[in-house]
Amino acid sequence: MANETKDRIAIINAQIVTVDESGSVIDNGSLVVGANGEIRAISRGQIDNDASVVVDARGAIVMPGLINAHTHLGMTLFRGLGDDMSLEDFLARLMPAEIKVLNHHAVHAGTQLAALESLLGGITTSLDMYYLPDAALEVAKSSGMRIQTGPNFLESDGPEPLAFADRLAWATKWLEAPRDETGSTGWVAPHSTYLLGEDHLHTLAALASKFEARIHVHAAETVGEMQLVAKRHAGRTPIQVLADTDLLRQSVLAHGVHLNDRDIEMIASNSATVVHCPASNYKLASGVARILDLQRAGVNVALGTDGPASGNDIDLWIAIRLAGYMQKTVAKNPAVLPALEIVRMATINGAKALQLNHMIGSLEVGKRADLIVLDSDSPSLTPNFDPHTTIAASVTRADVLHVIVDGKLVVQNRKCLTIDHKSAINAVKELGKQVLASVNNN
Ligand SMILES: [Zn+2]
Repeated sequence: MANETKDRIAIINAQIVTVDESGSVIDNGSLVVGANGEIRAISRGQIDNDASVVVDARGAIVMPGLINAHTHLGMTLFRGLGDDMSLEDFLARLMPAEIKVLNHHAVHAGTQLAALESLLGGITTSLDMYYLPDAALEVAKSSGMRIQTGPNFLESDGPEPLAFADRLAWATKWLEAPRDETGSTGWVAPHSTYLLGEDHLHTLAALASKFEARIHVHAAETVGEMQLVAKRHAGRTPIQVLADTDLLRQSVLAHGVHLNDRDIEMIASNSATVVHCPASNYKLASGVARILDLQRAGVNVALGTDGPASGNDIDLWIAIRLAGYMQKTVAKNPAVLPALEIVRMATINGAKALQLNHMIGSLEVGKRADLIVLDSDSPSLTPNFDPHTTIAASVTRADVLHVIVDGKLVVQNRKCLTIDHKSAINAVKELGKQVLASVNNN
């Protein structure tokens, strides 16, 4: 290519919120995205560059793209289908509908809508757990959003449909398949310890170990789950069961609401991440996670939206807000979880959860350019005395103006350049008829 040494994008007049180790902020800064999509330079003032695209941030915040460390993207198809009810009732309504409606086309449509919603809202990376993960990888490729995914397992056959043994054979093939850099090879997702027995959990640990894959699992979400797990697994907690089946090490644990002190110790000593999903937890009245205790124990805590059927939107700014406010309320101390800490949870801690922190999660020279530019004209971001506070307490999705992933502009002036907005919405509306029919026929 003729221009392979030319800088791709230069962002000027920016307040660069780096989320680096010291939380440094560069006022009146410039950031240059180099020829290969890396952050080539960051500095106060101007930087020499030959970029063909120059973005004038006009003083606005430029920050790392948000990382959604637990979601079910394809579940947009079922958004609003089961609300004002418990997790158990919600799953009883959702799961049969999923089996009837989902196929490759449907998951692709649901994931594409989720990618559109995510990118427009400043989310540049998602850790997904859903059926038919090839559809999510296709969307990752076409939309430019980073999606990490892998085979998921429950004891029901799912929409594929595959019984456990067949699913295991399929997953082995899936994990063996070569993928390009944007693809994801490294995940196995047992749904939970309440929907899987001990033998199956051991089998999945062996599968993950064979492929050096990481574990993404729901754990300790509700009181109902704690009771089910205790009954099914001889009085143990979900964390204890994961530890006993070799699934806890470096795992990504969605929710982690109901943890005892021993659970927290085990999570810390196994270098697992807890993904806090406050919107889902509070909507389903699941409880309040012990975020401060987890942090005191040295556990990496990231943020997630959970699936849009329980969440219900894929809005990490809401998670940012709820996470901070609820911990302050429960601790009766407004000083806990200060703004920079919450910004870390939504960015670099998510990158650590995915073991991608050498590439993304902060704005530093040499990392990939995954970043968002906020709107300098937004009334609610004005004035902006402390950008970390502005991010933690004022920014909404409507303030996201431009989004760059892997050095490519994917959202420009609030318009997604990689997904056709209208057709993404229409495809899911169309599938809505089948979704409703599947519920009515129950
Ligand atoms: Zn979930």
